[in-house]
Amino acid sequence: MIVSSPVPWELEPYSIKRHGVTITNCDSEPVQTPGCVQAHGALLVLRRCDLTILQTSDNSGPRLGRLPAELLGRPVAVILGDALAVQLEAFLTREPVVGTPLFLATIQIPNQAEALDITVHTVGGVVVLEFEATGYAETRAPDYYTIVKRTAARLGAAASVREFCQISAEEVRRVSGLDRVMLYRFHSDDSGEVYAEDRRPDLPSWLGLHYPAHDIPKPSREIFKKIWIRPLPDARGELAELVPLLNPDTGQPLDMTYCALRGASVMYTEYLQNMGAAASLTMSILCENKLWGLIACHHCTRARLPYQVRAACELLAQRISLQLPSAEEREFHQYRARMDEVHLGMLARTADSGELDTMLTGRPALLDGIAATGAALYHRARWSTVGSVPLEPALDRLAEWLRSRPEFLDRERPVLETDSLATVYPPALEFADVASGLLAVPIARGPSSILLWFRPETVRTVAWGGNPHDMPTVLGPNGPRLTPRTSFALWQESVRLRSLPWLPVEVNAALTLRLMMMDLVVSRLEQLAALNAELSRSNAELDAFTYVAGHDLKEPLRGIRKYAAGLMHEAESSPALSEEGRERIAAIQRLTSRMEALLNSLLQYSRMGRLQIDREEVDMAAVLQEVLEMLATQPELKGVQLRVPRPLPTVRCDRVRLRGILSNLIGNACKYNDKTGPWVEVGFVDPSDTTLKTDAAPPGRAAEPPLPDLARVPIEARGQRIYYVRDNGIGIEPGHFEQIFKMFKRLHPREAYGGGSGAGLTISRKFVEQHGGKLWVESEPQVGSVFCFTLPDSPQEEPASNG
Ligand code: ADP
Repeated sequence: MIVSSPVPWELEPYSIKRHGVTITNCDSEPVQTPGCVQAHGALLVLRRCDLTILQTSDNSGPRLGRLPAELLGRPVAVILGDALAVQLEAFLTREPVVGTPLFLATIQIPNQAEALDITVHTVGGVVVLEFEATGYAETRAPDYYTIVKRTAARLGAAASVREFCQISAEEVRRVSGLDRVMLYRFHSDDSGEVYAEDRRPDLPSWLGLHYPAHDIPKPSREIFKKIWIRPLPDARGELAELVPLLNPDTGQPLDMTYCALRGASVMYTEYLQNMGAAASLTMSILCENKLWGLIACHHCTRARLPYQVRAACELLAQRISLQLPSAEEREFHQYRARMDEVHLGMLARTADSGELDTMLTGRPALLDGIAATGAALYHRARWSTVGSVPLEPALDRLAEWLRSRPEFLDRERPVLETDSLATVYPPALEFADVASGLLAVPIARGPSSILLWFRPETVRTVAWGGNPHDMPTVLGPNGPRLTPRTSFALWQESVRLRSLPWLPVEVNAALTLRLMMMDLVVSRLEQLAALNAELSRSNAELDAFTYVAGHDLKEPLRGIRKYAAGLMHEAESSPALSEEGRERIAAIQRLTSRMEALLNSLLQYSRMGRLQIDREEVDMAAVLQEVLEMLATQPELKGVQLRVPRPLPTVRCDRVRLRGILSNLIGNACKYNDKTGPWVEVGFVDPSDTTLKTDAAPPGRAAEPPLPDLARVPIEARGQRIYYVRDNGIGIEPGHFEQIFKMFKRLHPREAYGGGSGAGLTISRKFVEQHGGKLWVESEPQVGSVFCFTLPDSPQEEPASNG
């Protein structure tokens, strides 16, 4: 036995003769027309117009003191007496009795131990009278007003739906006095869960028990939408059939939807029996005409559920149904507020750092908002993930599928949410354990950048208080079906490949987050645009200044040079000037030439900055050839080996500037080289290249100069082709990687390594940036350097995505 019950169970508690009930045919059981009543009470069916008795339960002898034959076709006064019969007539016209059983009177039948409560309602043109022993002969009826008032106040203060349900269970148990009160909550797939419970302390808990949809068959659910309460005070008690079974006037069975005495289905009594219950009382929780859940009360022994108790419970069920929507709303509201707060905090951090993937780490982060077990962000051609998520190749394929989905491309609500991804996207079968549920939104105008939340299969998230696998298998009259353990197993089957569903409030929060992220991305772009405008303005001013300064300074410099030359000429013929004086004049001449060289570099730099670039299809190999010819006269190039590991491509760029870049980088690579076997390599790398091909390193050399490292490419250059010039020269200390690009910055004494103005790299970087590209260096001192640059087709081009 699951629950030790003071009453020994009879395995076949019903006398009703029905056979062949199976789990599948219970959906078609005639729940509302069973043709029998619970035999602890009796029932009469009257013709509405003259109150003649048309049908009676066949236990009228023992219960009402008259056999069916003495009742059928006779006026109801035979049982009620004349006065009450007249009162009934008035009651029927005055009270709202259609489908609502109301208390009429208590009568004492001669020779009966207990007085009987009579309730009356009408259905389908007949009057139904139900007779039950009062059960309240010696006790006072409960004070409805106080009960409902107290319950309403407690329910109104509940902070969550869970607490609301717990209070409901406690209040119903207090009023009904039954051993166990459970609050079943239905899920969207009609399966259910014991969501709250109040029970006799010595009974085991069913809290958290999940059961499949068919545990509560459809016809029962339909009835529960119409009635508030369903008493079954003696589940193993006898049933009394109606005589005749069909209404003699209409030939129809009696619709017993609203009868408190309606005989229960075999399925239900078996279920109760397997749950260890001898009596039950069930109430509906209805929200917006939908069956939200049930309040199921069980008692280990036969129970007394007189009209007064039922009425009080009914009132409670109505009150609970009435107040539940606002409790749900409160909870959703709080949840939504919490999610929005998390998202805002997270975006504030993201705005500070400038990187979207900041959202996934630190506090608060993405997983603190919408309840999920994993999340992934695809942005700037790469994935950032947190929690349990599918592997990256699977994510790539999922993203590709998403981008083709119409709901994801919808302009108004671009969102895809599913609690069973494998059903709509079969490859998800392989990662159902981490991602049966998916909520996805695009975070840019196009669908390339996306944000995903994942949930695992429901079975994996359900915390089960008392392990159902530890429960003994109970055999009911029809085998082990409909026991908590079997129910749980069936439920587990029914939720395979399914996650907890995404609530509308979560989907809306995801959409709002999307808008906020887009704002952030857009406002960052605007910021960048403003900064760029500011920069180009000051650049233009600087260029103008440089030009004017360079141009105007050359004038007096020419004068100084002229006078110095004159002085020198005079000095040569005048013995009055000392050797020292002559050297000083020579120094003036050297310094002025140097200053002129610097001014020329400045002028070249500013002139280039002022001219538009002129893009065309340029054969890089041809440009390299020109550069080599130009450099051929320079002494540094002598003995340097040139390597080109693979044929150079055609590039859309400004030919003159590309020549300038290459000649500067190659010139430097030759100049800053003190090795005995100097070499220079010119090549390129594509983002898809996994291994970089170069000529083999010269034998005997241990350390190789670095190759462009794809992992260290600046963000703006990611996803683009990288051109490079690499050497086995003297290398550069990492601390100087940026300094060498500053105007006139040299790392060596003026004349060392063939001298130079220190403007070459500044000018090269400017040329690359005019194309919208990047120029940077990686190097290892004593080993060598690699100068890398990109030349995007157009300056505004966004890094290409490879997803
Ligand atoms: P310049 O060569 O006229 O001095 P650059 O702007 O071309 O000016 O280079 C600036 C400095 O960067 C050089 O003085 C040198 O110290 C360093 N440098 C440039 N290229 C290399 C290289 N390939 N290897 C080592 N150091 C280099």
